[in-house]
Amino acid sequence: MKQDGEIRDSSNSFPLQTMDPEKPTVCIFGTGDFGRSLGLRLIQCGYSVVFGSRNPNSSNLVPKGAEILSHTEAAKKSSIVIIAIHREHYDYLTGFADGLKGKVLVDVSNNLKINQYPESNAEYLADLLPECNVVKAFNTVSAWALQSGTLDASRQVFMCGDDAKAKEEVMKIARSLGLMPVDQGSLLAAKEIENYPLQLFPMWRLPCYICAGFTLLIFLYCLVIEVFHPLATKREDASYLIVITIPNRVFPTVSLILLALCYLPGILAAVIQLYRGTKYSRFPDWLDQWMLCRKQLGLLGLAYAFLHTIYTLVMPIRYYVRWWSNHYVIAEAKGNTTYPFSNYYAWLSDSYVALGILGLFFYVLLGITSLPSVSNAVNWREFRFVQSKLGYLTVVLCTAHTLVYGGDRFIFGPFYRWYLPPSFVLSLIIPCALLVMKFILIVPCLDQRITKIRQGWERKSKTDNSDS
Ligand code: NAP
Repeated sequence: MKQDGEIRDSSNSFPLQTMDPEKPTVCIFGTGDFGRSLGLRLIQCGYSVVFGSRNPNSSNLVPKGAEILSHTEAAKKSSIVIIAIHREHYDYLTGFADGLKGKVLVDVSNNLKINQYPESNAEYLADLLPECNVVKAFNTVSAWALQSGTLDASRQVFMCGDDAKAKEEVMKIARSLGLMPVDQGSLLAAKEIENYPLQLFPMWRLPCYICAGFTLLIFLYCLVIEVFHPLATKREDASYLIVITIPNRVFPTVSLILLALCYLPGILAAVIQLYRGTKYSRFPDWLDQWMLCRKQLGLLGLAYAFLHTIYTLVMPIRYYVRWWSNHYVIAEAKGNTTYPFSNYYAWLSDSYVALGILGLFFYVLLGITSLPSVSNAVNWREFRFVQSKLGYLTVVLCTAHTLVYGGDRFIFGPFYRWYLPPSFVLSLIIPCALLVMKFILIVPCLDQRITKIRQGWERKSKTDNSDS
């Protein structure tokens, strides 16, 4: 049964809350997608909403429970006006500037391109209506998320404005809508906030470039030694290797390099801190950026490890592999020879596979704990244990997997075509360097010094003449 004061929107069977007399009336200019969605959400949260529109008679446009009036009439009803119209039409608002004097204007607008205009939309609005307090907010929330209630991914609402009181009022509204306001400072920050929804995976750009660079490099390297070399030296066409064999060399090689690259910046940071004798000086920008993208590097490496696993599992059904094993058996039959079972190779191949499986298992564990929903559920010590201790264990297992795979091929001449080492040798350079540096840094005297530095200890300068 409908309770007194309860409103139910016709388009949405969601029960609307009773109007809360404590909450201010909110005015929204524009009855488009965003204005309607925000209006509905406000009504659901107990606000009374009045729309300002060019067509005040089309009451079917707005959610049930909201009023629709002309812009001038609507503005009179509230001290907060949400401008849910596109920037291109802002000059239209100057027509009733008098009615907006002293009010808080909330600019929710977005652009189509990053830095589309010389000034932000919010600053442009503030210039057009200098007697209003403009607050930039809600632009990172979509109309669809507001309407469907699926705000989990975009609960943060970035805000900025020059008037602290006006900003606080808008923050209150955001909080009561179940959103998380994040104060970004003065209106100067509006441009940055307007660019947020237009950015395409900003944290992934550098890791993707690094991953693509290594992929291309290793692919070309394998192409030279596996396809061009037999073509040039034996006139043999091995181009079919491009489809599975070469990718299956590229994926593990790049995966191991990316895994090592996740831990290398930590080692470099420790070396820099040891050298400077303090943690209170900034790391170079490149190192800061590198540290920030470690999670993405690790996830890309994990994706490559998965591809390596799948490509390896299809080996037995490949024509080339079946042809070779048949050829081997026929050669044995024709020559009436049996190659003896080698315990050494049996151990080598089983160890190589076992290390690979364990390495993949821990790699997956690292990937899972880096997901926000999982990392939020563990405390700092648990997170560090997995990401650091188990992380290094993963590097050790994957490096050992590659070393055992290499076996005696490291020193076996025919594998060095044109004096170039096989790709697995390249994949070991960074992880081995990383592990050597790590082993040096865990030597007690260095480890204790780093721990002290990280707890705030500083080495006095030479002029102070009193080291430690
Ligand atoms: P929309 O559906 O096109 O609605 C815009 C509204 O502006 C219209 O319904 C109209 O309302 C009013 N309008 C149109 N032409 C006008 C003119 N010449 N002069 C004055 N008013 C005019 O757009 P929207 O998707 O709601 O977006 C509105 C604002 O919210 C934009 O700045 C957008 O960047 C921002 N935004 C949208 C979303 C989203 O998911 N849609 C998300 C974040 C931010 P009346 O007919 O009632 O006057």
